[in-house]
Amino acid sequence: MELKKCVRCGKFFASDVDVCHECEKKDLADLSKLKGFFADNYVAGVSKVQISASTGISTKNLNRYLGYEEFNGIYVTEDANENGVEKLSTGNVNL
Ligand SMILES: [Zn+2]
Repeated sequence: MELKKCVRCGKFFASDVDVCHECEKKDLADLSKLKGFFADNYVAGVSKVQISASTGISTKNLNRYLGYEEFNGIYVTEDANENGVEKLSTGNVNL
């Protein structure tokens, strides 16, 4: 096991994963929010900015999660576009 820098808070820690023990818990909470978002509100091409606004997950962390294998089939754009905000706001999003 080597010493790594946590990608989330920058703390050094020894582990095989990318985040420290504290952030692992936060990651799990974020991931369950993200999965909930995709289950309830996903439209193809939804932007990272919109997901971030709805879930409170930072775009930096979002980028990391979206690289995970489990989100392979999900199509997300970088920023809001013409089929973005209006379409999403007609859904049942509780902000
Ligand atoms: Zn950390």
